[in-house]
Amino acid sequence: MARINEHFAKLPAGYLFPEIGRRVRAYQAAHPSERVIRLGIGDVTEPLAPAIVDAMHAAVDEMGKAETFRGYGPEQGYDFLLEAIREHDYRARGVDIAADEIFVSDGSKCDSGNIQEIFALAARVAVTDPVYPVYVDSNVMAGRTGALGPDGRYGGLVYLVGNEANGFQPEPPPAGTAIDIVYLCSPNNPTGTVATRAQLERWVAWARANDAIILFDAAYESYISDPSLPRSIYEIEGARECALELRSFSKRAGFTGVRCAFLVIPKGVTGADPDGKRVSINALWSRRHTTKFNGASYVVQRGAAAAYSPAGLAQTQAQIAFYMENARLLREGLATVGFTMFGGVHAPYLWLRTKDGATSWAFFDRLLHEAQIVGTPGAGFGPAGEGYFRLSAFNSRANIEEAIARIRRVFG
Ligand SMILES: *Cc1c(COP(=O)(O)O)cnc(C)c1O
Repeated sequence: MARINEHFAKLPAGYLFPEIGRRVRAYQAAHPSERVIRLGIGDVTEPLAPAIVDAMHAAVDEMGKAETFRGYGPEQGYDFLLEAIREHDYRARGVDIAADEIFVSDGSKCDSGNIQEIFALAARVAVTDPVYPVYVDSNVMAGRTGALGPDGRYGGLVYLVGNEANGFQPEPPPAGTAIDIVYLCSPNNPTGTVATRAQLERWVAWARANDAIILFDAAYESYISDPSLPRSIYEIEGARECALELRSFSKRAGFTGVRCAFLVIPKGVTGADPDGKRVSINALWSRRHTTKFNGASYVVQRGAAAAYSPAGLAQTQAQIAFYMENARLLREGLATVGFTMFGGVHAPYLWLRTKDGATSWAFFDRLLHEAQIVGTPGAGFGPAGEGYFRLSAFNSRANIEEAIARIRRVFG
């Protein structure tokens, strides 16, 4: 008898996006002539930049010739990509990251789920609430939590509440709170808010004082437009001793369907074995990565490296500017009908307070039925998301403008 991992049974069956899909399909079946605009799922909509397409075509041609064919590559990534990352993402911002501190992968979702494998089941994990669900669910699957309680929280996890008072950027917990690992995401999905330098300094100081590790998800760093805001946790003094950083080409270069990301693990970050002896997290992850992963595709890594070429940078930055103009238009349009909202300035997400105290799902239904717009109920990101709603700026300009017109009609 193959016993299954019973921890999976702790996950609720009605997961957020399938439930959204179910309600949208039911609505469309009943109203086939209505055109629904989807501002729900966090996926890019612009095609790959020409510089990236050219680089990938050239790489495919190399793979088709005996002299330039490549089989398995280095598991951590090709030097040409590691060097581009070191130079553009880090040295240019005054941060020195060694090539063997970077692990190229096929996505940050996998990285953020897989990383918890190298920590003890007894490790005490903290997440923000609302939160990117992967951080929570992967720890549930591993058996690091209790059951889901009636309050929407898993036993054994620490929830750090984001709310209007803290601008949806929770502060570090009081000293003495038992936490070994904390997941932070800035710019944030789902709230679209961004951590300031002072806030990240407090987190790094807290992690060092409490011997904790920060898992810093910077998937949206390229959406930051204020140069004084940190794009990397390593811009903060001391972070090399306590923080891992997740980066992805998905949102910055339209790679959601191409798949490429990387995880940075400075050699100064350590955990403890059962005897309290310090162990390098970089060495542990290297063992895990080289055992379970055979490297991202050569063609894909050539495409990712092209995102750092002068043409690639200009083209991808123009795409980001396009999405951020969508976000600005959405914010402006929603403000005219009195919405209270957060985010949308350094991230492609707007986080709205629902109207008239509606629950997230009631607001979802109202927006779908009255404006034919699909968004994401805040409650799907954790109990503190109740009463809020996420709209994404990933769409065509025409759809954004139409969505704004409909929202103004319904709520004006
Ligand atoms: C989109 C996103 C990612 C990127 O995931 P990939 O697997 O690299 O596509 C990572 N973290 C957050 C919070 C995201 O929203």
